[in-house]
Amino acid sequence: MKIDVLTLFPEMFTGVFGSSILKHAEQNGAVSFGVVDFREYADNKHKKVDDYPYGGGAGMVLRAQPIFDAVDALTETIEDKPRIIMLCPQGERYTQAKAEELANEKHLILLCGHYEGYDERVRTHLVTDEISIGDYVLTGGELGAMVIADSVTRLLPGVLGNEESAVTDSFSTGLLEHPHYTRPAEFRGLKVPDVLLSGHHKNIEEWRKLESLRRTWERRPELINHERLTEEERKWLQELELPDKK
Ligand code: SAM
Repeated sequence: MKIDVLTLFPEMFTGVFGSSILKHAEQNGAVSFGVVDFREYADNKHKKVDDYPYGGGAGMVLRAQPIFDAVDALTETIEDKPRIIMLCPQGERYTQAKAEELANEKHLILLCGHYEGYDERVRTHLVTDEISIGDYVLTGGELGAMVIADSVTRLLPGVLGNEESAVTDSFSTGLLEHPHYTRPAEFRGLKVPDVLLSGHHKNIEEWRKLESLRRTWERRPELINHERLTEEERKWLQELELPDKK
C-alpha cells in the first residue's frame, strides 16, 4: 500500500514513520509512506497557502490551488484511483471498521488541514472521504493522519508478527479485548487468575471470551450486538447483568 500525506509540517512525521512497527512495515515493503509539503505547490512568489475568508471573519483559510495541484502531481502517473481523505473535525468519526475498509485500498492520500480549515471546493470537488478522529478540535490534521496511517498499516498482511494479534484486538471482534498478564505469577501479592496458569486451553479460551464480554458490558455496552451472541454468551451476559439490575 502507498500512503501519502499532504501537510505543511512534514517534519512531524519523521518520528512516527521512522519508528517501531511502521518503520519495519516500510522496510519490509508492506507499505510505502510519502510526505509532501503542499506549500511547494503554491503558485505565488511567497508560497502562500492560506488567505482571508470571503465575507470576513476570524482566521485564515487554506487555498484550493496548492492542494489540488499537489494531489494532481501524486496521481498523474498512476491508474488506480486513490482514496483522498480529508482530516476534518466535521467528518465521519473514525473507527476500526473504517481502518479495515481503508486497509483494502492500494493508495491513500491523507490531507492535513490547518488554521480555519480548507476552501470548501477541496471538500466538494477533490476528496473522497472526510474523517474526524474524535469530537474535539486539533490545531492541524497531522495527528489524525498519523492515527489513520498507524491503524491501517498494522492491519496489512505480514506487518504484525503474529497476525492473530490484530484479529483478537478490541473492536475487531466487535468486543473489547480480554485482560492480559505476564510473568511473574504473583507481583506484590497480586495473583494471575489460576485458569491462565492451568495450561487448559479450552478453559483459557472460555475465560477470555467471558472477560471480553464482561469488559465490553462494563465499559462499552453499546458495542454489544445482541443478535450475534451465542447461547453461551447470552447466558453469561444475563449473569453479568444481574448485579447491575438490582
Ligand atoms: N474551523 C474548523 C471547524 O470548526 O470545523 C476547525 C479547523 S482545525 C483548527 C484545523 C485543522 O485541524 C482541520 O482542518 C483538520 O485538518 C484538523 N483537525 C482538527 N480537529 C480534527 C479532528 N477532530 N479530526 C481530524 N482532523 C482534525
